[in-house]
Amino acid sequence: MEILQKESLSRYSNLRIGGDAEHFCIPESEQEILDAVGFAREKGFPIMAFGGGSNIAFDSKGIQGLVMKISTDNISIDTENGTIVAASGTSLAKLVKCLAESGFDASNFAGVPGTVGGAVVNNTGRNNAQISNHVVGAKVLDPSSGITDVGHSFFGYDYRSSKLKHEHSHIVLSVALQFVAGDIVEIREKVRYIVGSRAKRQPTGMTLGSTFKNPATEVNAWQLIQDAGLAGYTTNGLRISDTHCNWILNEGGADTSSEALREFIEKIRNVVSERTGYLLEPEIQIISSKRTSI
Ligand SMILES: Cc1cc2nc3c(=O)[nH]c(=O)nc-3n(C[C@H](O)[C@H](O)[C@H](O)COP(=O)(O)OP(=O)(O)OC[C@H]3O[C@@H](n4cnc5c(N)ncnc54)[C@H](O)[C@@H]3O)c2cc1C
Repeated sequence: MEILQKESLSRYSNLRIGGDAEHFCIPESEQEILDAVGFAREKGFPIMAFGGGSNIAFDSKGIQGLVMKISTDNISIDTENGTIVAASGTSLAKLVKCLAESGFDASNFAGVPGTVGGAVVNNTGRNNAQISNHVVGAKVLDPSSGITDVGHSFFGYDYRSSKLKHEHSHIVLSVALQFVAGDIVEIREKVRYIVGSRAKRQPTGMTLGSTFKNPATEVNAWQLIQDAGLAGYTTNGLRISDTHCNWILNEGGADTSSEALREFIEKIRNVVSERTGYLLEPEIQIISSKRTSI
């Protein structure tokens, strides 16, 4: 595995925003992750791990230390006890498809981009479903003390969040999950339908999906942004989608900066707060240039 220097991170974020990683690699096995972590520790570099980049932008100033795009890819399914173990770099799309073919229903996560690791850290979900309801445990790496098996409670789950999303203290290597079994034909059809309808409904382009968390079960962030009159609002290459007001689109490509994104997010929060009384909390993350964690 090659460790690159000054690799542009913009192409690894779905929003295409980011400067250079001081050092960068794409580990495809647990051993390669361990090797990369060994390299960073020897040099005293901070470490940042991500998966699909579908919920993060990187600071335009670049990221110090070592940035790793986790690209492990493996799923094993124990059909007897219904436990599924997936490598963290496996795509959610592959997980949903493999489970459907084995008669397990993960259709709630159909059409969501990104990896299993990113989903487990973000507590990805749709409607009332969230991945934390399926997480049994995980194998995680603490760069300073090694590999441990942890249970569900380790993640300290909250709505669209976990302890790891903010602390970045561990790298998730693999995850043990459980899903309800059902009829293969029905599950396959459900997955096909959800993927198709999401593709039809959702705006295309450079985006991280929903920018803000819904502030309450019956209060949708998109509705508040629309009520605040911000649909279609555009500045500095960034636009609020007219059809899906919680989605920010980057129309300026690689020229759009993380600073512009920060200002855009703050502007939306302020206007929504003034006009509706709700202070929105971001769901997406801008990875900051000076990381001290891991
Ligand atoms: C078009 C579109 C639609 C979307 N729809 C939905 C939706 O319906 N529901 C929803 O909840 N989200 C949705 N999202 C957001 C996003 O797809 C999910 O949150 C996804 O699960 C993130 O996975 P990722 O691998 O891309 O994570 P990344 O963006 O790569 O990373 C997210 C976080 O996880 C951390 N991380 C990733 N992998 C690891 C690892 N192995 N070890 C430790 N930390 C790690 C990163 O450091 C970062 O903090 C959507 C995004 C887009 C672009």
